[in-house]
Amino acid sequence: MNLSVIIPVFNEEKNLEILCQELINVLDKLETELEIIFIDDGSTDKSFNILSDLQKNDDRIEVVRLRKNFGQTAALSAGFDRARGDFIVTLDADLQNDPEDIPKLLDKLKDGYDLVNGWRFDRKDHFLSRRLPSVVANKIISISTSVKLHDYGCTLKAFKKELIKNIRLYGEMHRFIPAIASGIGASITELKVNHRERRFGKSKYGIFRTTRVILDLITVKFLLSYASRPIQIFGLLGFFCEITGFGILLYLIAQRQLFDMPLANRPLLLFSILLVFMGLQFITLGLLGELQARTYHETQNKPIYVIKKILKNEDRDDDPITGN
Ligand code: UDP
Ligand code: MG
Repeated sequence: MNLSVIIPVFNEEKNLEILCQELINVLDKLETELEIIFIDDGSTDKSFNILSDLQKNDDRIEVVRLRKNFGQTAALSAGFDRARGDFIVTLDADLQNDPEDIPKLLDKLKDGYDLVNGWRFDRKDHFLSRRLPSVVANKIISISTSVKLHDYGCTLKAFKKELIKNIRLYGEMHRFIPAIASGIGASITELKVNHRERRFGKSKYGIFRTTRVILDLITVKFLLSYASRPIQIFGLLGFFCEITGFGILLYLIAQRQLFDMPLANRPLLLFSILLVFMGLQFITLGLLGELQARTYHETQNKPIYVIKKILKNEDRDDDPITGN
């Protein structure tokens, strides 16, 4: 199997047949072995019936129906678990992404990149509710993670299988796949792709998505930078609080002892005590985090590194962790 195309579907009944036709037209030209996996994410319209008809007519199509609406990240994740292709492409079911772009993305993968991210440079969505928040979110993500891309939210992406099989997604994290991927050392690039107006059905998201994106960003940022060394961040905060707290305390004690100034009516005293306690709590939190990190890695036999390739003597015994 060479190519897997993964499409999350939530109430897209009017789009599916057109999408499937467009896809097949493009993919047939590639003359490669392929599968198209539709994930029906708990649709309540006729999407599933339409998908099952499409599947009957073409055995390259697979339909996975989730029990309820788990969200786009979960749907994509289900697709990644099913995918058998060496190359994996994801796209929206709403016809906003253009299947004609798929061969271009694949070419980039063949150039050696592990991930190619689509960039909807001429995005056809509502300005205030969608494009503006997206520009802000993209800027924030780009500043706070090490991958510089223009459009993290674009579902049209292409991956190498080895990369995606190493990534686990939670919450609404599909738009952080590039950040997570770069965290494990993937080479990433972006490519301008066509974007079309939504003709049928409604967008599933509104402006409130931005807050959720920011919260997810904090998680991703923390996990990428400190998941295996939490004391480094909590300890740092703790030290900062302790030093300031004790500094202020010393200053107050000096004033009391040397100049006989009363302390009872000084808010600064309370503040310094607060800082000392907060500092202790940060440090203990960091230590608990360290314990958690060990439990996380050791219970699952999960190494704290990701291997790209091993060149070795054929006679060497297999290694239980790397499986090579
Ligand atoms: N989608 C999904 N589950 C959800 C929400 C959306 O599978 O809970 C699918 C949806 O059917 C579409 C894609 O994810 O194929 C992107 O959704 P949408 O077009 O609403 O997002 P937008 O393009 O507005 O960012
Ligand atoms: Mg859309």
